[in-house]
Amino acid sequence: MNKLLPLFGMNLFELEEVCLKGEQKKFVAKQLAHWLYQKNVSSFEEMKNVSAPFKAYLQENYCIHRSKYLRYSESVDGTRKYLFHFEAGYTETAMIPGEKRTTVCVSSQSGCRFGCSFCATGAGGFSGHLTAGEILEQIYGIDENQEISNIVYMGMGEPLDNLQEVLKSIEILTENWGRAISPSRITVSTIGLPAKLDEFLAKSNVSLALSLHSPFPEERVELIPAQKSNSLEDIIRVLKKHKFNQHRRLTFEYIVFKGKNHSYKHARAIGELLKSLNARINLIPYNEVPALTFQSPESYIMNQFKKELELQGFICTVRNSRGQDIEAACGMLAAKENNPPSE
Ligand code: SF4
Repeated sequence: MNKLLPLFGMNLFELEEVCLKGEQKKFVAKQLAHWLYQKNVSSFEEMKNVSAPFKAYLQENYCIHRSKYLRYSESVDGTRKYLFHFEAGYTETAMIPGEKRTTVCVSSQSGCRFGCSFCATGAGGFSGHLTAGEILEQIYGIDENQEISNIVYMGMGEPLDNLQEVLKSIEILTENWGRAISPSRITVSTIGLPAKLDEFLAKSNVSLALSLHSPFPEERVELIPAQKSNSLEDIIRVLKKHKFNQHRRLTFEYIVFKGKNHSYKHARAIGELLKSLNARINLIPYNEVPALTFQSPESYIMNQFKKELELQGFICTVRNSRGQDIEAACGMLAAKENNPPSE
């Protein structure tokens, strides 16, 4: 028997191909997209305006492919962490409720191959890339699907390392035939791989969060080994080629490690490095991971460093980790499933 191909995760062009193969007019692709991405159906029977013979053809050759999450944990602050199992391995997704918005944090890979020294996902190794459909299933397949207002690609994996699938998932989320979310409500977070960053910025118009963590190359490489072949200099050069504004924001994410990267010297160097970019800085207190030696900073350290950066002329915010009581550091839940402890 032929393996059924999943329709969920196909863009309009691919759905048109499906229609042509099934001897339908191209416009039927928009109807399919409507049922998949706006109505979130889980069977072909629900597609009311699709002809019976074409439904039968779809049934024979395609599936919708909806993965239900395996389980979730819920924090006292309402944050939920969902565990999925896709072809590449286990993956986690966080849902963060807020007063005015509900944000979902999706993964783009199962594990990650960049091995950043502070990261639970990096410590768990790499299992594989997710398809665009699997990225989208982390949005459509959770209980809060209807309430989601913002999407961040900040879960497991490096999005630019799986660029084509990430771009395709963004296309489906933002196009009118898809979910039709404003690109300004989507943010992709990356450590910065210059060649792919350039392509990403040219082919999408969502916001970008760049992981800085240190303005000094010799210190950043200890935290992000990929800095060796993807230098800050090259990253900044690429960023300067593109326009950022209040719709497409550029934010530098800066995890503060106690006693490591929050001195006056750091604030000055950040000021110098980012001075000609229209960017803001998001400070994140490090969230301790068992077996890793980095420490979380106290809030007075965060406030002091924030003030120093503001004196350098930046808009600077502090983002506190949510869901502290549920293996909050990204990758802890799935890494445990991908690498169960030996008996
Ligand atoms: S911080 Fe991001 S790029 Fe680095 S290991 Fe973790 S998931 Fe990968």
